[in-house]
Amino acid sequence: MTQREPAPPPPVTVLYVGGTGRSGTTLLERILGQAGGVCAAGELVFLWERGLRGNERCGCGERFDACPFWTQVGKEAFGGWDQLDLDEVQALQRQVDRHRYLPAMVAPRLMGAYRRRMERYAAVLERLYRAISTVSGAGVVIDSSKNAPHAYLLRHVPGVDLRLVHLVRRSHGVAYSWTKQVHRPEVADSEAFMHRQPAAVTALYWMKDNLLLDLVRLLRVPSHRLRYESLTERPREHATAVLRHAGRAPDGPELEFLGDGHVDLAVDHTVAGNPMRFHRGRLDLRADHEWSRAMPRGQRLIVTAITWPLLLRYGYRLGAPDGAGRPR
Ligand SMILES: [Zn+2]
Repeated sequence: MTQREPAPPPPVTVLYVGGTGRSGTTLLERILGQAGGVCAAGELVFLWERGLRGNERCGCGERFDACPFWTQVGKEAFGGWDQLDLDEVQALQRQVDRHRYLPAMVAPRLMGAYRRRMERYAAVLERLYRAISTVSGAGVVIDSSKNAPHAYLLRHVPGVDLRLVHLVRRSHGVAYSWTKQVHRPEVADSEAFMHRQPAAVTALYWMKDNLLLDLVRLLRVPSHRLRYESLTERPREHATAVLRHAGRAPDGPELEFLGDGHVDLAVDHTVAGNPMRFHRGRLDLRADHEWSRAMPRGQRLIVTAITWPLLLRYGYRLGAPDGAGRPR
């Protein structure tokens, strides 16, 4: 008599927040993370380097190794983080999860050596996402790693039901934000600032990141595109739509944390991300249109010249004479 194989556990829904940096991905993640059955885990691509190796702060304010949530996740996934060969995992990540391997991620069957490494790394990720779901009790885990390669990779992780939400913000707002100095509070004992870069460089990244995220849809990953400007204008409507996309059906009272123009934020145990991930309590939801007043005209023209095809595709007016960058 043969014994029946135990039924595999149900898949964990991973809601992947994709977008170019400074598009409001942390804001979207935090809004969604307040809903029941949803766990906002942060930018999980940085878990190994900034969490385990750097011991940077979790969204709850604790150092990574002192956070009860992540300690429990490590136990659940690997029998404790010290049981994980971090050098090997990071080597695998470097060999698997990068833009240059996108062709192999799309067609791993064609690339034997890549495929073997990818399967090893995917097995680590499967344990990780499942443990986050188990410890939080949430059926939906949000990973706001943002970049396209990680979304391509997640398609191959067994036990993961991947849904993409692609957040787009007007290129001028993104480019202006990258020219400003922003403090990084998670590096507790030093004066650290987020990276800055020229507007033209950001505009090129904006094109590349958004195009690659548009292509994820072609690989039959359920995808939902959302504009940052629309989210901040009608947060309840858009948060509801994204949660439905992730398989949740929130009713009215469940979204009481989300009012017109504000959100009430509790603690989230997030790895990496914008400094807003530490915010607790009421947060006003207003689109940041500072670029429309402060961005030099030359910079604006360069950004328009580089990004106009996708601006039009996403429904933005090129001239934006009112400066608000409001979608059509
Ligand atoms: Zn924490």
